[in-house]
Amino acid sequence: MTDSILETEGLTKEFRGFVAVNGVSLKVRRGSIHGLIGPNGAGKTTCFNLLTKFLQPTRGTIRYDGRDITGMKPAEVARLGLVRSFQISAVFPHLSVLENVRVALQRQRGGSFDFWRSEGLLRQFDDRAMALLEDVGLTGYARLQAGELPYGRKRALEIATTMAMDPAMMLLDEPTAGMAHEDVDRIVALVKRVAAGRTVLLVEHNLKVVSGLCDRITVLARGSVLAEGDYGEVSRNPDVIAAYLGT
Ligand code: ADP
Repeated sequence: MTDSILETEGLTKEFRGFVAVNGVSLKVRRGSIHGLIGPNGAGKTTCFNLLTKFLQPTRGTIRYDGRDITGMKPAEVARLGLVRSFQISAVFPHLSVLENVRVALQRQRGGSFDFWRSEGLLRQFDDRAMALLEDVGLTGYARLQAGELPYGRKRALEIATTMAMDPAMMLLDEPTAGMAHEDVDRIVALVKRVAAGRTVLLVEHNLKVVSGLCDRITVLARGSVLAEGDYGEVSRNPDVIAAYLGT
């Protein structure tokens, strides 16, 4: 049994001849928080979409938990426990915060509508939903319409709905993008909490955010792996510094 939960080999994505991701070989250790970072246009989002199967690679392979998932569909890999954070656009603005988590729990159960008809099941879902809301610090917002949540809290709701899938591995796409300082600190603490007992791959633009969070970091630049190591190692790497300064 390998200690990597996710491994890519020569992962490549071309868009009409333009190589956005170029031969990326990546190993994510089970139970770690792994950062995938790099300047704008480095290929982070494309990589993220390849790993969660929203895009098909031009070349290369992806293995998750000992299985080749290269040809699988997003829903299949989600069922195996590899789950990406839902984007805010997937939050239903007219449902309450609690109802949003309830829907996510229902989806995880296979989309059966039975539970709407069973009060016992509904209560079970609500208990689980409230526990998830507590985990992400949204207990006090449970009855609020999701569309009225402040931005940072919406990102926390997005994480709660992702956790409803009970993933073994979570992929988070820039969870702190566009946030004010206080919100960034809160999300960083939240990611630490949700990472307990699972693996997290974090796509991030901001080096500072990953410094307190990631055990290991892969730096991408122009589609290729530029450096890999812990925060101290990559932040001292002259190639990384040059890539971030755009020189
Ligand atoms: P990052 O997330 O690191 O900012 P992206 O993965 O979004 O980088 O983009 C990497 C490169 O691939 C960019 O130059 C971008 O313009 C290009 N790219 C991304 N998606 C597409 C697409 N669907 N068609 C053509 N080019 C794309």
